[in-house]
Amino acid sequence: MTENTIYHDDDATHSYIEEKTVAVLGYGSQGHAHAQNLAESGVDVIVGLREGSASRTAAREDGLTVATPTEAAAAADVVSMLVPDNVQPDVYAAIEAELDAGDTLQFAHGFNVHYDQIEPPEDVDVTMVAPKGPGHIVRRQYADGEGTPGLLAVYRDATGEAKQEALAYADAIGCTRAGVIETTFREETETDLFGEQAVLCGGVTELVKAGYETLTDAGYSEEMAYFECLNELKLIVDLLYEGGMSEMWDSVSDTAEYGGLTRGEVVVDDHTRERMETVLEEVQNGEFAREWIAENQAGRPSYGQRRRAEKAHDIEDVGEELRALFAWSEEENREKANAPA
Ligand code: NAD
Ligand code: MG
Ligand code: MG
Ligand code: MG
Ligand code: MG
Repeated sequence: MTENTIYHDDDATHSYIEEKTVAVLGYGSQGHAHAQNLAESGVDVIVGLREGSASRTAAREDGLTVATPTEAAAAADVVSMLVPDNVQPDVYAAIEAELDAGDTLQFAHGFNVHYDQIEPPEDVDVTMVAPKGPGHIVRRQYADGEGTPGLLAVYRDATGEAKQEALAYADAIGCTRAGVIETTFREETETDLFGEQAVLCGGVTELVKAGYETLTDAGYSEEMAYFECLNELKLIVDLLYEGGMSEMWDSVSDTAEYGGLTRGEVVVDDHTRERMETVLEEVQNGEFAREWIAENQAGRPSYGQRRRAEKAHDIEDVGEELRALFAWSEEENREKANAPA
């Protein structure tokens, strides 16, 4: 086990970013938050968006300067690549010529650099500042004087100042207020892919479907199977998020705790761990990345098919009906969200 360094406000020096111009390419989840936070921290920001992009109006209404990605990159010392990962190689092709020696190309996820889909020039710094939260949280936390924890990595340090500049950027978007964990492009990319595949997105949905089907195949009602295998997941995840496994185990009944502690490992056993190792190997050796890039180039045929099959699962129909019964909770959430702070 290794432990990574964590940086805070005191480790960041504003002068590494304050004199610079940052081109924020993209104005979606991360882009709007980085651009607004940087601007409010006194950094010159140009938002780079295609002519005709719907985000252009939003960025202008937020008081920011907008140009094309190429124009923005030409004027910038730091280019922050915040368009979706699958379009980054095309956007990069349009701005590559604007990267001068000593400029910085910055990312919020390592996929394209780690898997060689983007190969920046040797004399350009390549860094990552990746908030551990969606953009609206990054923006809201900053506005509230708080911060969202983040990751920082240096892929290439051409100037000798890459890390200081990335730390200053992380400070300017509020991340050092909470803490910034140092990692590498490889570690961030591979753990991100593995986590979403094996545990968070792939693992959880398969576990839920398998549990639901086990109950309904045995003759139990779809409604009860839905509640016990999907709906209640939120209560468990909230507890895990707040206080880890201990808080979850402390909060459920002793029966649930004993049953879970003895039966969990019957379901997720050594066989599952071996399969997880296979999934990790395919992330590490690039097999998954090659498959996904080829899938995109082919127009996403298999992706489309799997999406349709997932939407057609019975659990989606019963879920829609049952979630409608919880309309009061949605209304309550909306009221909370709109309540003045
Ligand atoms: P997003 O989908 O929210 O952003 C889309 C933006 O990119 C829009 O402004 C859109 O106009 C622009 N765009 C879309 N297609 C384009 C094209 N062909 N050419 C030019 N611009 C185009 O993206 P996001 O979720 O903010 O992701 C940006 C980066 O941040 C990614 O590398 C992602 O992995 C990373 N990241 C995202 C999150 C998150 O919570 N969303 C968290 C951490 C890191
Ligand atoms: Mg430049
Ligand atoms: Mg630089
Ligand atoms: Mg991911
Ligand atoms: Mg129960």
